[in-house]
Amino acid sequence: MSAAASPPAYARVLLDLPVGEAFDYRLGPDQVPPAVPGAWVVVPWGSGQRVGLVASVGSSTELDEERVREVTEVLADAPVLPADWFAFLGFVAGYYHRTLGEVALPALPKRLRTPPAARARGSVFARLRRRPLGHEADRQDTARAGAADAQAPAPAGAAHLQTPRRPEAPPTLNPHQQAALAGLREASGFRVSLLHGVTGSGKTEVYLHWLAEVLAGRPDAQALLLVPEIGLTPQLTGLLRARFAGVPLAVLHSELPDAERAAHWLAAVEGRARLVVGTRLAVLTPLPGLAAIVVDEEHDASFKQQEGVRYSARDMAVALAARRDIPVVLGSATPSLESWRAAQTGRYRLLSLPDRVHAGAWPRLRRIDPRRQAMVHGLAPDTRQAISDALARGEQALVFMNRRGFAPVLHCEACGWLSACEHCAAFRVLHRDGGGAGAPARYRLQCHHCGGQSRVPRACPGCGNVDLGPLGRGTQRLEDGLRELYPQARIARLDRDVARHRGAAGEVIAAAHRGEVDILVGTQMLAKGHDFQRLSCVVVVDADSGLFSADFRAPERLFALLMQVAGRAGRAGLASEVLIQTRFGQHPLFDALARHDFAAFADAQLAERHQAGLPPFMHQALMRVEARQLDTALAFLGQARELAADPPAGLTLFDPVPMPMARLAGRERAQLLLEAPARAPLHAFLREWLPAVASLKGAVRWQIEIDPLEI
Ligand code: ADP
Ligand code: ZN
Ligand code: ZN
Repeated sequence: MSAAASPPAYARVLLDLPVGEAFDYRLGPDQVPPAVPGAWVVVPWGSGQRVGLVASVGSSTELDEERVREVTEVLADAPVLPADWFAFLGFVAGYYHRTLGEVALPALPKRLRTPPAARARGSVFARLRRRPLGHEADRQDTARAGAADAQAPAPAGAAHLQTPRRPEAPPTLNPHQQAALAGLREASGFRVSLLHGVTGSGKTEVYLHWLAEVLAGRPDAQALLLVPEIGLTPQLTGLLRARFAGVPLAVLHSELPDAERAAHWLAAVEGRARLVVGTRLAVLTPLPGLAAIVVDEEHDASFKQQEGVRYSARDMAVALAARRDIPVVLGSATPSLESWRAAQTGRYRLLSLPDRVHAGAWPRLRRIDPRRQAMVHGLAPDTRQAISDALARGEQALVFMNRRGFAPVLHCEACGWLSACEHCAAFRVLHRDGGGAGAPARYRLQCHHCGGQSRVPRACPGCGNVDLGPLGRGTQRLEDGLRELYPQARIARLDRDVARHRGAAGEVIAAAHRGEVDILVGTQMLAKGHDFQRLSCVVVVDADSGLFSADFRAPERLFALLMQVAGRAGRAGLASEVLIQTRFGQHPLFDALARHDFAAFADAQLAERHQAGLPPFMHQALMRVEARQLDTALAFLGQARELAADPPAGLTLFDPVPMPMARLAGRERAQLLLEAPARAPLHAFLREWLPAVASLKGAVRWQIEIDPLEI
């Protein structure tokens, strides 16, 4: 058999598997032309079928030909994915030390990568191509935002792509915004700009102007706007549709129904959608005309994937821009210290919007020491007074607490029993369901880590005492307290328990916008992006848990959160105040917050990190191991560490230790931290070390995380 002359007979196929780079399959004669690199196939794996992507084709295989199985089907209707996308994903896979298949397959919409053969054979792609974009997505927005806020849905049919829903003229940029826009315009080719400005300083307007210019510049140009969460900011898609009338928009996020998401994805991949807005996964979408990227709220932890391949969409957006030689903008009121440092060293260009667009003083910050005060329902006298005053002025108050549920733990006073989770090193949280409109309230215990649920015991499992009580307070109990304190006020709660009911979160937000809510109470879901016009009083019930955490990033997160929460007040120019209940009011973090001086906070943090040898001055990787017994996990890490008896200079492997939460869902967990002052030697080491670790024996599961956010 002459290899040169013979047609391809084998395909090397990428599958979502942690081992092997690609797998050989035999092609039938009629499969050869459609099975080009980048094509989609269905192949047998074990006793089932899987969707895979063709990495390459060839006329021979190194495997035993007898054992090579046949490609079940080539999905000829599917878009052939481009080589430069595979090259980028190859970079992602290399950076995170995963296989290309583990990165590439999960990047495809779920509906298209699950292989029920019937669906694959029917022309699912053709149907998706005919599907109007925006219809479902807008209906969803409508449901979320409430009818008053929503745009009218697009009429179905071919004209949908071009239909402006109320087109809207953009505001004229103020001089600071113009300067920032001019800075963005200067970039030709790859450049990272960090757009820093307090909430309400007009960052979004700057991006939108810039993206409009980029899209106008070339008929096939595409722009990618990455945002932390879309579900909570239904106004964003409405704004984009109004502003980019006539520009086909694709929306990519996990809350869309599967088919809808697949249709949007396909439009983006085929270049039919020109503006693509999405959450972290969107960065892994092949976009043929990509000309510009914006990462809004770039500091937000939700850009980091927390399972599977733990990639940072922010970091990969920068890597993608570099590969495509295009500009990328990172925007935030509180940039990550990594980005802030990059701006200081000149790697990124810093563009600043120093003032809020609508003049109006920044809210006044008051620190309230809860000690020796007559606390009622967790609120100090001054706090209660401030809320009353806002209500008396006909304004809104927001009461923030980052702990959902009724109470963090159920407790027996007689013997000290606590509602520990049987599977985790954590307590089960007391939750209440129902209780409205005469229906009896029901209580249950739930673990926020493993999801495990149990009934509230009739009597203490420890001593039989029937008088069990809640300890501490979550948002549900706080809401009860507020209702008791302010019986006349209209009170609405927003947290993940509320948001679980489809459309409920949007309804709360819309009601607040319509002025139908006097007191909003809830978790950080309330902190993001909302623009409540009459909100003038913000209360942070307890700021202390974030101040003295073992996690060195805790102050950074707390500062960002408090800036964001504080930024909800006084948006429309009302005099406003932020009350923070803390026992550590003298902490310098609050001084910087009072002056809304991110730079001062960031520079102080960076100085501390520099001295302590922490990121961004150090690069880290974290190996996590889980096993039935903690000793097994620790022993495995010990062996792994011994494999690196002689690590390269500068690289440190720390001692294996139990994870901060050592037991989760019945598994014991331990970790080993690696660090180096530069990335290259760390990655070079991992490339040699990880395969050796993989060959170790032990009844454990392990994974490596690069640039971990939580250690
Ligand atoms: P950020 O993204 O920094 O929080 P936005 O761009 O959302 O700020 O602007 C805050 C508010 O000010 C929005 O309601 C926006 O429409 C409005 N706005 C922004 N720029 C201008 C401008 N130049 N003139 C008038 N209003 C503006
Ligand atoms: Zn007891
Ligand atoms: Zn649990």
